[in-house]
Parts: sequence; structure tokens; C-alpha cells
Amino acid sequence: MAVPFAKSHFLWSFLSIFLHILAVFLLLLTTYVSAHTFSDIGSEDVDSSRRNDLYSEILRDEALARLNELGKVSDADGYLERTFMSAASLRAGNLIRCWMEDAGLTTWFDHMGNLHGRFEGMNRSAETLLIGSHLDTVVDAGIFDGSLGIISALSALKVLKSNGMLAKLKRPVEVIAFSDEEGVRFQSTFLGSAAIAGILPVSALQISDKSGVTVQDSLKENSLGITEESLLQLKYDSKSVWGYVEVHIEQGPLLEWVGFPLGVVKGIAGQTRLKVVVKGSQGHAGTVPMSLRQDPMAAAAELIVLLERLCKNPKDFLSYDDQCNDSTIESLSSSLVCTVGEISTWPSASNVIPGQVTFTVDIRAMDDMGREAVLYELSNQMYQICDRRSVSCIVESKHDAKAVVCDSELSSQLKFAANVALKRMTGEIQDEVPILMSGAGHDAMAMSHLSKVGMLFVRCRGGISHSPAEHVLDDDVWAAGLAIVAFLETHL
Ligand SMILES: [Zn+2]
Repeated sequence: MAVPFAKSHFLWSFLSIFLHILAVFLLLLTTYVSAHTFSDIGSEDVDSSRRNDLYSEILRDEALARLNELGKVSDADGYLERTFMSAASLRAGNLIRCWMEDAGLTTWFDHMGNLHGRFEGMNRSAETLLIGSHLDTVVDAGIFDGSLGIISALSALKVLKSNGMLAKLKRPVEVIAFSDEEGVRFQSTFLGSAAIAGILPVSALQISDKSGVTVQDSLKENSLGITEESLLQLKYDSKSVWGYVEVHIEQGPLLEWVGFPLGVVKGIAGQTRLKVVVKGSQGHAGTVPMSLRQDPMAAAAELIVLLERLCKNPKDFLSYDDQCNDSTIESLSSSLVCTVGEISTWPSASNVIPGQVTFTVDIRAMDDMGREAVLYELSNQMYQICDRRSVSCIVESKHDAKAVVCDSELSSQLKFAANVALKRMTGEIQDEVPILMSGAGHDAMAMSHLSKVGMLFVRCRGGISHSPAEHVLDDDVWAAGLAIVAFLETHL
């Protein structure tokens, strides 16, 4: 009896151990398979849901295709040039109009050639959110300057249309593609946005281009007859506008430097442009002794170095002056930039001491008081140098624009939207979005006369703009669109 028992016990134990091993093996196999299956499904789910949530097809791929297509609409062969009311500018307008309609907007051209696309939202009498940028370009331009602001706004609205949220916007949203910001054709910037803001003087209609065609004629040629009355009617009622938002490439190197795709603009620098004429005594380069010369070229050189010194270290010049308090000097030190970009001499010959030198001065700063203090100091010292050198100096003001401070509440909303966009893209909480000033002028400057304004900058490679080398990373185009989606979501 014992043997069969022992035999059966042995067999039973063997079977039991075998079954345990099998169970452990199956458990491990199941765990392995399920872990891998879940992790695969999990990552696919995360990726595809993130892709779907982030609308890369609309905000990145289609936006880039449109930017490239628009970049080919040019008046010139071989490079991009699109000026106010040119044939290419009209073709570009019609193309953008199709994309506006694709995003569900109602479209029209106004008498100044601006293209509007509007969606009324749930309450058509609520204040309108305006989003815009310009469709004109400089000569030999890049494809992102201006166009990125228009395309990213349209992509964002198309996303809201595709997910059914467009109809839930609590206020009207209007995208405006401004007809002239660069001012290449008429040397007069902001024809489009200034008309809507109501700050374009009627005399602007009579400005002529190089061929003698006036602004008014160029509009008439394109069936946009404008009169003084219709120009005045273009002005929007400030009570009907909630605010103006503009997305634009930075056109400078700071975002790239700090490694951030988006930045919020705190303000647009005020600007002064001067023409300086230095007159001396023209003479023979070989016969007039150095001690007897009244050389405007050497004087101009000293004046230019003075300007550079002053703008590099405004503290050294202004700290003793009652005009400037500490905050003015602080603001100046961080934002003041000065440039001499153009110089000409007469008669411009290697063996002649010039009779006259003319050069331009461009001064920009966030602080208007500080900019004026720099101008005051500059002209004081300039005249002293000219007296010492026995040459005459004439300083003529050519342009003066006050700085524009972006609305702090609107800027916080844009900052929040940019943070949300970057968090959605990376899955991580990012550092604070950088706050920058804009040294370049934008349509937001003109629109600030109508309503509060806010701007979002997008990183561009090497800070290069106004050049075919202008470049924005594909994912940065996506980030810009996503930030506008996040911003629009706050208006649902
Ligand atoms: Zn621009």
C-alpha cells in the first residue's frame, strides 16, 4: 500500500510542481504580453490623442503649405516682392480670402485694400476681437513676415470650426490682412491699419509712387474707389472693438538665444529718424594743410562715434541730468538702439576734401522721455563738435513715433495661451514665456490708437528678417497656431 501511495505521492508532487511552474510561466508570459500590449497601445493613444488634440495637420502642415504658397505670390521673378495694390498683392489677397472662407469666415475687401474675414460668434453686438498682420512685403522678402500672423490666426479659427467650438465664441472675431505695412511703394507705413484706426490723414491719398501714381489712383485702378468720405468711414468705432492681437516673427535673435519658440511683447519702441547735414569747405586733397581744413567727413565720423558712445552708455550721459529718473535710465539702458544706416558725401571723390556729408540717424527706445533726453544730449554735443571743427551742422527731424505699451491684461492672456500651447506640445510645464520689446514697428502701433493691443513673437532663425533667409521652424509655426487656439478658447 505504501509503495503505490509513495508512487502516487511522487507523481502528484511532480504534477503539482509542473503545474506551478506552468502557472508561473503563463503568469509571466501574460504579464509580459499585457505590459507590452498596454505600453504600445498606451503610447499610441497618447501620441495619437496628442496629435489630434494639437491639430498638427491644420496648425503646422497646412499652415506651412499656405505660407510657402503665399511666398510664391510675387511681383518679381526669382524673389518675393508684394507691394500695396500690386498685381501680386491682389492675387495674395484672393488666396487668403479663400482660406478665410475655408475657416468659416465672411469676407470682404475695404476701400483701402484691407481684407477682412469675420465670424459673428454667439453675440454679434459684443465687442469684436481683431487679429491681424500685413500681406505686403519688402523687396526680396522672407515668407513669414506678416503672413505668419494672418495664417496662424486662420489656422486657429479653422481648428475651432473643425471641433465645433467656433459657433461658441462669445464675441465676434475678425481677422484682417492689412494692405500696407512695409510702405515700400509709397514710403508711408501703415496705410491699411492706420485707415482702420482712423489716424491716416486724407492727404495720404495723394502720396505718389515713383511712377507718379497716387494712393487714390492705385485703389481706383483696382475698383476700390476711395474718397475722403469713404476713408473716414473706414475707421472702426473704438467702442465696438474688444482688442487687437498680432502674431509676428521676432525679427531679432533673443528668442533663439534663450531657446524659446514664443515670446510676449511688452511694447513697441518709439522711434526718431533724423537727417544730419554737415557742411565744410570743399578743397584739394593734396594742397590744403590739415590745420586749415574744415572737413565735414571727419566731423561726421566724430558725430557718429558720439552717437554710438551715447547709446551704448546712456547712464554716463544722462545720470547727472534732472530730466531722467532712475527708471527712465534703466529702461533706456535695456532698450536704446541707435543706427546710422545711410551716408552720402559731395562730391565723393578720392582726391577731394568733401564739401558736404549727409547721414541718417535712427534712434529707438521703449521710454519716450528717455529718447527725448538722448536727442537733447545728442544735439547739444553735436553742435559743440561742429563749432570746434568750424563746420555747420543742420539736424532735421524726419519721423517721430511714440512708443506703444501693450495692454498688460491682454499680454498676460497671451502669455497664458503661449504657456498652454508649449505645455500641450511638450507635455511638460515650461519656464516662463519670455517678455520682449519690439524694436521694429508693426500694425499694432497704428491699432493702439483704436484699442488695447497685444503681440506674440515667434522665434526666427538667427533673428534674420527682411531677407529670403528668413526662417521659422515647422514646430514653431505649430506653436504659434496652438497659442492662438488657446487664446481663442478663453473667449468661448
Ligand atoms: Zn512685418
